This record gives sequence, C-alpha cells and structure tokens, in this order.
Amino acid sequence: MSVEVRIVSIEAIILDLPTIRPHRLSMVTMSGQSMMIVRLRCSDGVEGLGEGTTIGGLAYGPESPEGMKLTIDEYIAPLLLGFDPTRVQVAMDRVRKAVKGNHFAKCAVEAALLDCQARRLGVSMSELLGGRRHKSLPIAWTLASGDTARDIDEAQAMLDRRRHKDFKLKIGLKSIEEDIRHVAAIRKALPDMASIRVDANMAWREREARNAIAALAEAGCVLVEQPVCGIAPLARLTRVSSIAMMADEVLVGPESALEAVTVHAADVFSIKIEQAGGLFAAAKVIAIAETGGISVYGGTMLEGPIGTIAAAQLMAGVKDLRWGTEFFGPLLLTEEILATPLDYSDFELTVPDGPGLGIELDEDCLAFFVRGGMRKTISIAGQRG
Ligand SMILES: [Mg+2]
Repeated sequence: MSVEVRIVSIEAIILDLPTIRPHRLSMVTMSGQSMMIVRLRCSDGVEGLGEGTTIGGLAYGPESPEGMKLTIDEYIAPLLLGFDPTRVQVAMDRVRKAVKGNHFAKCAVEAALLDCQARRLGVSMSELLGGRRHKSLPIAWTLASGDTARDIDEAQAMLDRRRHKDFKLKIGLKSIEEDIRHVAAIRKALPDMASIRVDANMAWREREARNAIAALAEAGCVLVEQPVCGIAPLARLTRVSSIAMMADEVLVGPESALEAVTVHAADVFSIKIEQAGGLFAAAKVIAIAETGGISVYGGTMLEGPIGTIAAAQLMAGVKDLRWGTEFFGPLLLTEEILATPLDYSDFELTVPDGPGLGIELDEDCLAFFVRGGMRKTISIAGQRG
C-alpha cells in the first residue's frame, strides 16, 4: 500500500445481555450472556469488530470476559497500537510471541483485524479467507431447558417456523437412565425430519459412556458429542460406537487436532474459532480434520452476532457440511444488538456478504447494555424507586 495505515485504538468492552431462557448444561446453568467485544480502529478510518464469549464465565473454558478484556487492555493493545493492520498474520505473530495461551482473547483481536482488512478491500471475510462455498449454513438448535415437555414444545415450534430441524440435547447433569428417557421421549415426539444429537460435555466416565452410547443409539440419537474427557478415551469409544462421535472440548488448536486425528478420536470435529485460538488456527484444525477423513461441524461458544458471523464466514468455505453448524448464539439473546438482524430462515443462517463481517452494531443498544452503562443506571434507579 502506498499510504501507510496504522492501528490507532483497540477498545475492549463487556456487554451483559439477557437470554430467552435458562440454558442448562452439565457444568453450569446460564441465565444471561456476557460478551467481550473488541473495536479496532485504524488510521484510514476503517473499524473492525471481534468477540470473545464464554459459556458460563469460567465454567466451560479457561478464559472469562473480564480476563479477556484485561489481557487485551494490558498486553495485546500496547503491542499492536501503531502497527500495520493490513498485515494480519504478522500482527498476530507479534501477539503470539508475547502472549501465551489466551485463545479467546487472541481470536477476538484477530477477527477484528480480519474484519478491518476485508472492509478495506471491500470483500466479505469469507472471500478474504479463500472464498465461500455456501451462501447459508444449516443451524442446529440446542434444547437445554432441563425439562422434557418444554424441550419438545420448543423443538416443535422451531420445526413449525422452519428455523431448526437438527436438535442437540444437553445431557450429563441427571442420571444416565433419566437422560436416556429424556432423549427417547423427544425423539419419539418429533417427526422423522428432525435429527437428535446429544452433548454430555465430558460428564461421563468411559465405562458408563459406552453403555449410554449404545442406549442412545437404540433411542434414535445419531451423534454423541464429547461424552468423556481426553483424546484416548474418546478414541476408544469411537471405535465401538455405532453412531457418530464428535470431539469438542479436547480440540484446543491445531496440535490437539493433529493428535486427535492420529488416533481417530472422533468421526466429527466441532470447530470453534475461539477454542482453536482464532480463525487461522481454526482453518488449520479444519484442514487437519479433512485430511484425516474426519467431518467438521461449526461449534459455538454461544457467541453473539459478531463471534457467530466470524465463525460463519470461515465455515462458509468448508466443502462438506453434512453435520451443519450450531451457530444459534444470537437467537438465545432477547436483544438485537445489530442494526440489521441476521437472517435465520428455512433452517439456515444466511452468511452476510457485505464487506468484512457484513454486520453493523446498534450503537444505542450497545450503550444500554455495556457493563456500567445505561442499564445499570436504570436498574439502580428502579431499585431506589
Ligand atoms: Mg460441545
């Protein structure tokens, strides 16, 4: 470029947003969502967005929104201010050299840099990442109210609205017998077009998982996600399972993906850009999986629209999407934080095709829900009143 461009500011903010219902997982019940948002501004006036979001604070992963903000404010931003934002890989090399771990925070910053560069070039992020193969992505829905009848009603409503037909049931909190009854009842209540998958989030020991997987297969479940912790136990279960096994928590970047592929730890890898350490790292995980004959699936950290669309821009380039994605995070929120809402219709999410991520924030909504912002002022005033 003839004119030198510089990064002039990197702002990390936390939004606290209400969710449509409690989301009950084996390790935590979520009643709201806090997301860390990065706004990266450049000297040419281009601004990019990135997001770091976790499931239940520190209950699922090693980083919290507050920790990510601190990492970015104190360690990453000082490294990048004044740096050339058009050299995204070089900028991230600089970050990786000085900051170990912190995959979620790095992912948010990298996404913001990619958003900037794609906007600068006038292309969507998926074009910058190699070109899209899909205009829209299949979106599974997670049933996690903790109540069988409520989950059935919720699934039927989703089918009626043609919003989701693949359902992931969060289990592992109750006894295995209760969980199997729950899965079987939902499978039986829904039409054949619906598929039922489960995620135990590592709640089981290997022996009980082996029995549970056989019973789940019997009940009509087609996929089991991360029933146990560790690559070796998962590989042993995959060898004897008659239904597909998915790896999620064990995949924390390309090295772990290579280890998992070597022992064929699963039939499907859940690709999470934050867990992998960014979009480039997630692209490597995808390449490793595909090379090893393992399918990929778009996983979620229940991100809001920014993180969700960053992941969608990457997954739009994946050839085989037979298992689809679970990019439903924005739908769990009661509030619309985008100026133009995302299009979830006909069981799919349309991948925005405008420059960069292709989305814009609603600034009024942001000001209201930013931590310490308008919402807090109003609720304190309300309490006094
Ligand atoms: Mg999972």
